[in-house]
Amino acid sequence: MSTDLPEPEVKAHYDVVIIGAGAGGISVANTLAEYGVNVVMFDESSRPGGQIYRNLETNASKLTRLLGRDYAAGKKILTTFRNFIDKGLIEYYPKAKVWYLNSDNEIGVSKSGLSYKIRAKKVVIATGCQERPMPISGWHLPGVMSLGAGQILLKSASILPKSTVLAGAGPLLWLLAYQYRRAGVKVEAIVDTAMPSPWWSTSIHLLKALVAGEYLFKGLYLMLNARFSDVPIHRSVTHLKAVGNQQFESVSFKCNGEHYQIRADTLLLHQGVIPGLHIAEAAGCRIQWHGPQQCWVPVVDKWGKSSQNHISIVGDVSGIEGAKSAALSGKTAGLRLARELRKISGVQLGRLSFLSRLSRRRHQAIRPLLNVVFRVPVTYLNPPDEVVVCRCEEVTAGTIRGITKQGCMGPNQAKAFTRCGMGPCQGRMCSSTVEQIMAHELNRSVADIGRYRARPPIKPITLGELASTFSSPES
Ligand SMILES: Cc1cc2nc3c(=O)[nH]c(=O)nc-3n(C[C@H](O)[C@H](O)[C@H](O)COP(=O)(O)OP(=O)(O)OC[C@H]3O[C@@H](n4cnc5c(N)ncnc54)[C@H](O)[C@@H]3O)c2cc1C
Repeated sequence: MSTDLPEPEVKAHYDVVIIGAGAGGISVANTLAEYGVNVVMFDESSRPGGQIYRNLETNASKLTRLLGRDYAAGKKILTTFRNFIDKGLIEYYPKAKVWYLNSDNEIGVSKSGLSYKIRAKKVVIATGCQERPMPISGWHLPGVMSLGAGQILLKSASILPKSTVLAGAGPLLWLLAYQYRRAGVKVEAIVDTAMPSPWWSTSIHLLKALVAGEYLFKGLYLMLNARFSDVPIHRSVTHLKAVGNQQFESVSFKCNGEHYQIRADTLLLHQGVIPGLHIAEAAGCRIQWHGPQQCWVPVVDKWGKSSQNHISIVGDVSGIEGAKSAALSGKTAGLRLARELRKISGVQLGRLSFLSRLSRRRHQAIRPLLNVVFRVPVTYLNPPDEVVVCRCEEVTAGTIRGITKQGCMGPNQAKAFTRCGMGPCQGRMCSSTVEQIMAHELNRSVADIGRYRARPPIKPITLGELASTFSSPES
């Protein structure tokens, strides 16, 4: 299998370019390859699989058993993917970072210190989601990480903390508690920040969610497993803080009117996931505010087609639905592209996609319940003044409030006033918090306030890489 990019002098034109080798992107690639379409796929990770199936190809069976059935389930699509690569139908480039995409389907991709400009008839964005930042006092201390980072260390390097507190809300909190305990990590406490939701709204959504019963059973199993373990669980927690001098030492919080302080080596924070929209936005795809999921999502039709005619968006970047739904959205988008490239007929498209679309609707049925049960409380979206919001440029919530009171009207102006969002993470860690603070301060909705404009380079690249793009004959 080739892992090198085409030489710069070769004209880099493709029918279909897929960005992201997670469940969504791989499903698009496998579907297109099945109907004889050559595709190229770029992924910044060193192995295919994305977040859920991270490192599955190399992980020993012991780790695979520990991570559970949902993890092992990825083997099937990864094997198919490898077969198509071997047959030359899929060109897959790992460690290839896409840093640019425009509405004319020009793609900037950097790999091994060089950057290339590529064109494609069709582009599929399958870049997945990111964790919603959880800005609390002390979250920037060494020893505090996101929960997802903890899971990435486990999957990619079998690195485990000695002792940890897991804090926040969302299904991943309970999943990692389960995986860590099975791996022998001392989980000092689970600190659940979700607030009880009104019984009537939960019941309505619970009824709808029954069609996706496997998620309910899995969630219940994970929670009961924690409940009947020796791990203390604190619920409806407020005033959460990471405490330490140069390093994280303990976590403090309030629960049922009592104050708690728990020591541990690490604190892992999590409050759900949100689509990673930078590439889609930079390419001019329309986005909109999704109230129930408390995040921005791209506007796509049932085939994953965005407002830009040649760009499809699949998987969690098109809206948070989970890995199974990501694979199904990838399959339907792949079939539609096969139709557009005249590999299948309209009748075939309808017939072949029917089951995937039906099955995806079933998986989607759990989402309204999860949105209600794990809704992030305002206090964790709109933190107190002293909390650092932008960790790259060290801008506090108080500074954002201050400039808003002085007349700053939105996140892009806040960027210019404070450098907030201008660091290496490109606003990934502060964007959602800045929007919320300004919306609350101005008494407007986040949809009104807007968000940072995404500009290339979407991922940090060196000046040398940038220069190499423009010295290639393609440019
Ligand atoms: C940290 C984290 C951990 C998670 N763990 C679990 C779990 O254990 N179980 C579970 O059910 N769900 C988990 N999820 C949710 C899960 O990620 C999704 O439901 C599922 O993986 C969605 O598949 P996807 O293909 O849409 O995206 P992903 O699987 O996230 O794949 C996206 C791919 O795009 C690549 N990419 C992103 N940007 C670029 C770029 N600019 N250039 C090149 N490549 C790029 C990434 O490297 C990645 O491989 C997790 C989410 C996160 C954020």
